[in-house]
This record gives sequence, C-alpha cells and structure tokens, in this order.
Amino acid sequence: MTMMNEEAMDLILIPAPLMGHLISDVEMAKRLLQIRHQLSITVFLMKSPLDSHLNSYVQSLLAHNHCSRLKFISLPEEDLPAPASKEPTNGFTLFSFFVESHKPNVRDCVNEMKKNDVRLGGFVVDSICMAMMDVADEFGLPTYVYYTSGAAMLGLHLHLQSLRDDHGVDVTEFKDSDPHLNLSTYSKPFPPKLLPLFALDKTGGSAYFLDIAKRMRKAKGILVNTFLELEPHALESLSKDASAPPVYPVGPILNLKSNKIQESSEKEILKWLDGHPDSSVVFLCFGSCGSFPEPQVKEIAYALEQSGHRFLWSLRRPPSHGSIFSTDYNDPEEALPEGFLERTKSIGKVIGWAPQAAVLAHPAVGGFVSHCGWNSTLESIWSGVPIATWPIYTEQQANAFQLVEEIGIGVEVKMDYRYYFMGEFEILPEKVNAKEIESAITVLMDHPTINPQRMKATELKGKSRKALEEDGSSFNYFKCFFEHVMNNII
Ligand code: UDP
Repeated sequence: MTMMNEEAMDLILIPAPLMGHLISDVEMAKRLLQIRHQLSITVFLMKSPLDSHLNSYVQSLLAHNHCSRLKFISLPEEDLPAPASKEPTNGFTLFSFFVESHKPNVRDCVNEMKKNDVRLGGFVVDSICMAMMDVADEFGLPTYVYYTSGAAMLGLHLHLQSLRDDHGVDVTEFKDSDPHLNLSTYSKPFPPKLLPLFALDKTGGSAYFLDIAKRMRKAKGILVNTFLELEPHALESLSKDASAPPVYPVGPILNLKSNKIQESSEKEILKWLDGHPDSSVVFLCFGSCGSFPEPQVKEIAYALEQSGHRFLWSLRRPPSHGSIFSTDYNDPEEALPEGFLERTKSIGKVIGWAPQAAVLAHPAVGGFVSHCGWNSTLESIWSGVPIATWPIYTEQQANAFQLVEEIGIGVEVKMDYRYYFMGEFEILPEKVNAKEIESAITVLMDHPTINPQRMKATELKGKSRKALEEDGSSFNYFKCFFEHVMNNII
C-alpha cells in the first residue's frame, strides 16, 4: 500500500449534463481547489444525447485534464431511455431516467478509484442529480450538494417539499388566485403564480422537483451559488431549519470566460461597445433557451426604437419541435419589423449568441433586460448592472420577484411571463406591448446616478468581489465546508 499524505483527499463531483449547471459545477470545483491545496477532485462527466454544445464542452474538459488535482472522467454514454410505461413522460421523467441509467457507471468508476487507494472524502452532487446519493450511500460515503440557484430558491424548494411530505398539501393545486405564500426565505409574501412551473407540473415534474428537496435534506451539507451579503435574510432563515443540512454560500461562482463564442465575433461585439459612452447601452439577452414568438419580437423592436436608447440585442429563434435550445437566426430581419435594422443601425446591434459575461463587464453597458436565470443574475451583479426582469422558463419568475422586491436591482418588465417549458410550448403567453417594455427600459436606463436599482447594483458589485477575496464571506464558507468534509471522513 502506498503512503498517503495525512491531509490528502479526493472528492467526486457529479455535475448535471446541462450547460448552465455543468459550467457552474466545474467552476465551483476549481474554486475549492484554489482554497485547499491538499484536495483533489475527480469529475464524472455525463454526455448528453440531445446537446452537442454540452458534448463539445465535455470534450474540451477531457482534452485539457489540466492539473493532476482536477481530473475529468467521461462516463460511458447512455441513450435516453424509452418510456417504460404508458405513463405520460416529460423532460423531467426522461432526465431522471437518464441520470439513473448512469448509476452503474459511477459505481464502476468509484470501485476503480478505491482499488488505487484513493482516500475519498465523499460525493459532491449537482442538486438535479440527487439520485447519485444512492451510490455514495452504497460506498458509505457522505453526499454534499451543489445548488446552482440561490438561497431564496433553495428555501422555496425545501418549503414546498415540507408542505407535501409533512402536511399532505398537493402543491400542484396552487392557483394564481390563491393567497400569497409565506416562504421564510423571502421577506415579502410570495405570489403563487410565480412558483416554478415544474413545481406545479402534474405529469412528473412536481414529484421530481420535490423529491430532490427530500434527498437534499439527507445530505451532509449544501453549497449554494450565492453570497451572504446578497441574500442575508434567506441564509439566516435556512440556518434555522433544523431538518436541513448546513448551507454554505460560496458564490458568486461564475465563468467569466465565455467558451461558446468564436474569438472574432466576440471581438467584433466588444469593439462595437467601445464606440459608445459609459452606461449608455441596454443589453438584451434571454439565456441559453430564451426566445420569443415573432409578434413579441416585433414589440421589443418597437420599444427599442421608441426609447431611443442604444442597444445590443441577442435575438434568438425558438427551438424547433422536440428541442429545448433556441438557435441563431440566419437572418434576424425575418423576425424584425421591416427596415428596423437600417433605421437603428447607428444606435443598435442585433446579434445571436452573446459573449454575455464580457458584455456585462463592458463600461458602455448600463442596463440588462434579462430572463433572470441565476447565472445571468450573478453575472449582472458582478458587473454592477441593474436588470429589467423578463422571466421566461424554469424558476426565473421567482428570481425576477426576488430581484425586484427583495434585492432591489430589478425593474419589472413582466414578472409572470412564461413561454415554454422543457420543450413543450405552453399556450402562447399574452403579448407584452411595446409601451410596457419601453417604460421599463426608460426606468432602467434613465438618471444613471440617482437610479436606486443602479445604486444597489453598484453596491452589490463591490460586495460580490469582496466575498471571494481571502477572508471574504464565501472564502470563509469554503473553508468551513472543507473542515466539515474532513470531520466526516471515516
Ligand atoms: N449565455 C451567454 N450568451 C448568450 C446566452 C447565455 O454567454 O447569448 C450564458 C450566460 O452568460 C450564462 C448562461 O449562459 O452564464 C445562462 O445561464 P442562466 O442560469 O442565466 O440561464 P439558463 O440559460 O440556464 O436558462
């Protein structure tokens, strides 16, 4: 048997095979390694049968297997399972079968590691892959969770699960008209119409979502992509939940280098921004899956033209049937009002996929019209840019509520907008008209120095950076987490 360094230890990280999650999971691992030099992390990567972008990112990680302390292992590929019964299947059930199907592969890899006398400290599992906790249990290893959304959302998640499991409430029956909910991680009453759609989904989504929370309660600790100064109320409330494990706010975990964009197009966009005064450009971008029906695209265009503000707009086409990913238009003109590009060419630029983090960091950008995905939210905060909230899918409506009502950097465009959900298009949402969009943009962009959302965003920018510095709150929480892991080693 080889001599082992007393302190040396390996954690197994199981990221989720979804781009927004995987990037965050890997960045979190890198951060942890920077803070603890005795630690190694082995990342088990799942490829996706549906997402070629994800697979090229996985390939790039495998190709770079950069340092001996961060190892990437590709799990054997699995197909999407055929539905086993006549039960309705949706994206959630398929996703959960898909994760389940990787369990034997994970088991084999752990056995291999054990043969090599690796001292294992436990599993760190992306929250949407909680099923892997079973494998950790088989090996007698502790499971820790990485939650890629914020602390308020984690509290909402745990609360709904407790309503179902401890109080027999069918949360899928919550209606828009019901009284507001008292969720302890939000200081204001929470409108049920802004609950994540999957929590309300009767065809498996809700069960899947709430079962995640049930398993998270059994984990040894939850790392959350937030920081203490951003969500003090939510974190305080989570610390009082005796049936939840300790929560470690270790964010913002960001990938500030966009890896999807080709250098030349990125440069061209940033060069265009160079030509504009500070805080003068409104940036519109709606996440990896965000898009709008064409009549809505036209209303946004009218609003931009009417507002007269400079703009950079990432405009993407709705996914084709059976996919969940929006794509770039070959020619955006096909969705835009006639002559729009020509009329606005001196003040605006319409692009496809954006180098978002770099755009938000550019001094010319003064406001962000966003779908309020949690990564986008943190990137905006990191750069001190206020947000006009236009949620579309997953948990973004709740994030929008938090940005406007709790954090104070959000201006509402439309809080309860929903367009599609795991590839299934909902009934077309009511159109948000140009006037409403224009007013939100005006509030977002006007009076830069006295705008309260901008002032708050500037304050949080400073705090987000401090949190990650040595002795900052997130740095210290990472250290606490590590001590906790060491204490749990058998
Ligand atoms: N993103 C980007 N360019 C785009 C759209 C998205 O770089 O045109 C990045 C964005 O910077 C963020 C991630 O994709 O890091 C989106 O994550 P988020 O959690 O905000 O939303 P999701 O796409 O998961 O809904």
